[in-house]
Amino acid sequence: MFMSTNLSKQTVLVTGASSGIGQAIAIAMGKAGANVVINYHSDDEAANGTLDIIHKNGGEGLIIKADVSREDEMVAMFANAIKYFGTIDILVNNAGIQKDSKFIEMSLQDWQEVMDTNLTGQFLCAREAAKEFCRRGVVAGRSVAAGKVIFISSVHNIVPWAGHANYTTSKGGETMLMKTMAQELAPQKIRVNSIAPGAIKTDINKKVWSDPVQAKELLRMIPYNRIGEPEDIAKVAVWLASDEADYITGTTIYVDGGMTLYPEFAYGG
Ligand code: NAP
Repeated sequence: MFMSTNLSKQTVLVTGASSGIGQAIAIAMGKAGANVVINYHSDDEAANGTLDIIHKNGGEGLIIKADVSREDEMVAMFANAIKYFGTIDILVNNAGIQKDSKFIEMSLQDWQEVMDTNLTGQFLCAREAAKEFCRRGVVAGRSVAAGKVIFISSVHNIVPWAGHANYTTSKGGETMLMKTMAQELAPQKIRVNSIAPGAIKTDINKKVWSDPVQAKELLRMIPYNRIGEPEDIAKVAVWLASDEADYITGTTIYVDGGMTLYPEFAYGG
């Protein structure tokens, strides 16, 4: 049977598509033929930039400014996207933030904001997407699945990270949400998976990769010896959303240049 990563006739909603990994995924999904709903939180100009690139590549897009941690805004966002494009076939749960501090100094507010965006936001979007997938079911000629959810996780769903307890906990929680959804929704032909990036050059970690000393230290943790680009994640997301990946559900794909291979053992042990 011939299949491809062509996503034409499908609609994808990407959260946090105004920057970094989300922007690269939105552009790659558009190139693969999907209609793209570009969600973002604050950067109007950057969201317009994502849409411009999708248009230049011959694709279709819709921008929706909304806070993923707000239930009312997420319900409205999905209703608007479905009204505009007819349905949603793929959700990429990408929006995420860091609010770093030493554990004993971590404020409840910094803990809560990270949980609200990274974990509750992913829950709210996944729930609204799954409702639509269940309502519509499989459409012959479009995809053999009724819907696909891709969580953007992190190597820190399994690697502890001092000074980032809120972030690591949100990513660990995301993994169990993804797996539980995958188990529960597989009979409805809904696939749910995660992509766990290592260090990818985006705004979230610019302080590290733009400083030569810190960048060198970072490379010691990456056996493949380069910092990742947003496109490294985008390519995998397109493939994972396509029918080429039809038998994959409930798993996490690490795209990390080997960061999860205990790199310090390369120097002894
Ligand atoms: P980024 O460049 O800082 O982009 C974050 C995006 O999330 C922006 O588009 C931002 O929108 C959006 N966002 C933030 N809060 C939001 C909210 N409440 N509602 C809706 N959108 C919101 O970061 P990134 O590196 O691309 O990160 C994307 C995802 O990858 C995150 O989940 C992150 O944890 C994960 N990740 C990144 C790395 C890495 O090395 N970069 C590694 C592992 C995992 P505005 O800018 O418009 O406010």
